[in-house]
Amino acid sequence: MEALRAGKQMNNNQMNNNNNDASEFDYVIVGAGSAGCVLANRLSADGKHSVLLLEAGPRDTNIWIHVPLGYGKLFKEKTVNWMYQTEPEPGLDGRQVFQPRGKVLGGSSSINGLLYVRGQHEDYDRWRQRGNIGWGFDDVLPYFKKAENQTRGADDYHGIGGPLSVSDWRHADPLSEAFVKAAVEAGIPFNPDFNGATQEGTGFFQTTTRRGRRASSAFSYLRPAKGRGNLHIETSALAQRLVFEGRRARAVEYRQNGALRTARARKEILVSSGAYNSPQLLQLSGIGPAGLLKTHGINVVLDAPGVGNDLQDHLQVRIVMRCAQRVTLNDVVNHPVRKVMAGMQYAALRKGPLTIAAGTSGAFFKTDPRLATPDIQIHFIPFSTDKMGEQLHPFSGFTASVCQLRPESRGSLKIKSADPSVPPEIRINYLAAETDRTAFIDGIRILRKILAAPALKPYAVGEVDPGPKVASDDELLDFCRRTGSTVYHPTSTCRMGNDPLAVVDQRLRVHGIEGLRVVDASVMPDLMSGNTNAPTIMIAEKASDMILEDAR
Ligand SMILES: Cc1cc2nc3c(=O)[nH]c(=O)nc-3n(C[C@H](O)[C@H](O)[C@H](O)COP(=O)(O)OP(=O)(O)OC[C@H]3O[C@@H](n4cnc5c(N)ncnc54)[C@H](O)[C@@H]3O)c2cc1C
Repeated sequence: MEALRAGKQMNNNQMNNNNNDASEFDYVIVGAGSAGCVLANRLSADGKHSVLLLEAGPRDTNIWIHVPLGYGKLFKEKTVNWMYQTEPEPGLDGRQVFQPRGKVLGGSSSINGLLYVRGQHEDYDRWRQRGNIGWGFDDVLPYFKKAENQTRGADDYHGIGGPLSVSDWRHADPLSEAFVKAAVEAGIPFNPDFNGATQEGTGFFQTTTRRGRRASSAFSYLRPAKGRGNLHIETSALAQRLVFEGRRARAVEYRQNGALRTARARKEILVSSGAYNSPQLLQLSGIGPAGLLKTHGINVVLDAPGVGNDLQDHLQVRIVMRCAQRVTLNDVVNHPVRKVMAGMQYAALRKGPLTIAAGTSGAFFKTDPRLATPDIQIHFIPFSTDKMGEQLHPFSGFTASVCQLRPESRGSLKIKSADPSVPPEIRINYLAAETDRTAFIDGIRILRKILAAPALKPYAVGEVDPGPKVASDDELLDFCRRTGSTVYHPTSTCRMGNDPLAVVDQRLRVHGIEGLRVVDASVMPDLMSGNTNAPTIMIAEKASDMILEDAR
């Protein structure tokens, strides 16, 4: 009731026309990331609607964006990265976990690890089972296919002719192949396609690349559309708050080159700022937990306690192995001649070690045979570092990480200030749930069996981290707490659903507000069992259809 009253009043989020630089579009999209670029393309395609795309970061001119292995260079590159940190995480010995997020055209799809993994059919059927009509696997598969240009060709699960190029790795690597053979020897079946009939098994990852270059959503969706007269793209434009007339979202106030500007939306505002910035923007605009907003002096447009709630992320724990042969990327990078040759090979052919994504081969398996589907994903990579994004080891080494696919731990995102430039408070609560802790302990044990299998014997000469002495449940859990880190998949902070904590409905409209949708990874009802870029692009493809249908 209080929120209702507040919503009818004029407040500091409402149109006051106190700046004279206002412009008007049919749709205003906030954030040019994985989702925002899809919306910009699809909504401007028929030429009938004017679209403004606002992006806080710059254009994607940094050369490392376009080289697959360049993600290592962008990990802590503040010109294209929000570089967030969690609060001290109680389940990780009070450590703060670094959270890179893309701040550039293409968003996180411009700095991510390029793996194309959709998750399990059952993830989407679970979304549907939670009451989200239209989000079951059979409903979303057409959108995965619509987005896709699969270089292997079309089949029941894959599409061709879509904007997003999906390719096999352009490099023959004996170590990555040995990992797959070792996993088969350890009892995990070979799976030629993690995005096909079933996810379970071991095999090679496909990537969002086109002829050896990154296929970000900016490259795939924005580039083909940017010449359209009805699509306006503004970079270095930080949306500060949404502006309401009563309960209708009317405009976005943004700061660009020091000036405060306002863009009005005739039809809708689409918030696609990602799982951290979308709930932040809603809270700054008066949509969020009333108590939190009042603490920061923000007038409540809608008391929506679910905004920022239910934050989930994939944790990963990495095992580093010493390699007996000089076949790792460490050996290339640490050898001046091999390093130059790798550069030349990439420049001439777009092949070789510079095309390595965040995993080459991997596996999906169950830690408990009673489970219906895999609960663990392994990312195998033929190099090693102390921490992600840091220098490669001086010795030959490789890494295999355990990632738990469906964490039960839940966190939250809250603004710390009414000032839009202040990063939000991020709490993920990794390893808070018993199921999560057990899955990691069991997952590491199964991974160790793979690493000890015959096919890897010629390569694996010893575990560097954590080392064989770390063996009991307590020791393994302690290792997870000391070293566990994110796989960069935050979701569900503006969750879709019909319950009191759900933020958007099944058409991604913000409950209780008109003219406003959230379209990005934050709307996932829960974290799916895979990597989040392809699912976010699918969500935006489906949202585009819904938005255009509703405009008729
Ligand atoms: C280092 C890293 C590695 C990853 N590896 C993989 C992988 O291998 N495979 C995979 O599938 N997924 C991976 N992911 C995750 C995946 O990329 C993301 O889940 C996905 O890109 C999220 O898309 P989004 O549209 O929700 O948000 P984003 O792509 O992050 O887009 C949000 C955009 O909104 C902009 N923005 C935010 N706030 C504002 C504001 N106030 N005003 C204007 N603009 C704003 C941001 O700058 C950004 O461009 C990785 C992510 C990272 C960071």
